[in-house]
Amino acid sequence: FDYIKNTDPEIAGVISEELERQNRNIELIASENCVSEAVMSAMGSPLTNKYAEGYPGKRYYGGCEVVDKAEELARERAKELFGAEHANVQAHSGASANLAVFFAALEPGDTVLSMNLSHGGHLSHGSPVNISGKYFNIVPYGVSEKDEKINYDEILKLAKECKPKMIIAGASAYPRIIDFERFAQIAKEVGAYLLVDMAHIAGLVAAGLHPNPVPYADFVTTTTHKTLRGPRGGLILCREEYAKMIDKAIFPGIQGGPLMHVIASKAVCFKEALTDEFKAYQNQIVKNAAVLADTLTKQGFRLVSGGTENHLMLVDLTNFDVTGKEAEKRLDEVRITVNKNTIPFETKSPFITSGIRIGTPAVTSRGMKEEDMVEIGTLIHMLISDFENSKEAVAKRVEALCAKYPLYRGGNL
Ligand code: PLP
Repeated sequence: FDYIKNTDPEIAGVISEELERQNRNIELIASENCVSEAVMSAMGSPLTNKYAEGYPGKRYYGGCEVVDKAEELARERAKELFGAEHANVQAHSGASANLAVFFAALEPGDTVLSMNLSHGGHLSHGSPVNISGKYFNIVPYGVSEKDEKINYDEILKLAKECKPKMIIAGASAYPRIIDFERFAQIAKEVGAYLLVDMAHIAGLVAAGLHPNPVPYADFVTTTTHKTLRGPRGGLILCREEYAKMIDKAIFPGIQGGPLMHVIASKAVCFKEALTDEFKAYQNQIVKNAAVLADTLTKQGFRLVSGGTENHLMLVDLTNFDVTGKEAEKRLDEVRITVNKNTIPFETKSPFITSGIRIGTPAVTSRGMKEEDMVEIGTLIHMLISDFENSKEAVAKRVEALCAKYPLYRGGNL
């Protein structure tokens, strides 16, 4: 950090300010986390200097014999962690990982059956503003109106009608367990590829707290920076039979040189994820989410699908007469960070929304436990139900809670 201070005090200032913000905020964005010092340090290493187009042992540049070791370690650990036959660790992001699978397995115009964005799906699964929605014929499936859970019979019906080349399972805002075996049966019945995007739940899968899609899916993509608590990046897993086509789709298909410093950091993340401590951490994420969901429910909030089985929950604010946008703003003012989110069968625009999405990975990384979730749930309720009269008291309690769990100061990660 001293190097940055000496060369560029403005950026050093930004980094200090952001660290301060992270320390003083309760981070409840479900897709965020706080990485370990080891994961972070690998990203700021001399490996950033190396061009290494190609794959270990088959590079287009000389001098790759050392970085090859980093990529081999990352690939082997990813395979071990998820029980996969092949791993590509070069995808720069989750969206790039998905794009590579499309590029490998589909032709423009092919039909893809994927989850509706407003029911929890992700932009890169076929939104009209994303390349996936522009290049492919997207047929969306949603959750059932009855219980707001995935309706597998409905997906089978849709799949038989639209005969997709690929079905995508996986979501950004779905609080329930996903039955990948069932998805695979449906895909098999209609002769479609199955892509599972496990970006949100990869850490839970690694710890055995959510069914693993790897035995069932043709392709599994993930980000490495959400529950998995690694550097910002992507990962693709597949069977050996698809290894070549996936590797070719990433490079030279859609990317140039890999980010070797990030790949080294992914290797560190996978090593951490193979430990018992990581399993205990994931277990605490799920416990914390259950307690927070229970606290919010007792305070009168309606949770989409009635609760959570993973690391996140969707809160429907309709009965408090507050929009998602307004709730996000109010919570921001007292340093609780969430994001507004559409709920299934949403009636408001995506810029307003009826809900907020809340997740526990980042607060759990800071060391927070069940009793802290009760406090957070209570504070959210105080603030949403009576903003003007509660905001000062809530801000003080947020400050006290954050002070109890310092970030990158007490070595608690
Ligand atoms: N897939 C899912 C399910 C996600 O939730 C996200 C990000 O939120 C992505 C893919 C995209 O990842 P990235 O932001 O790294 O492109």
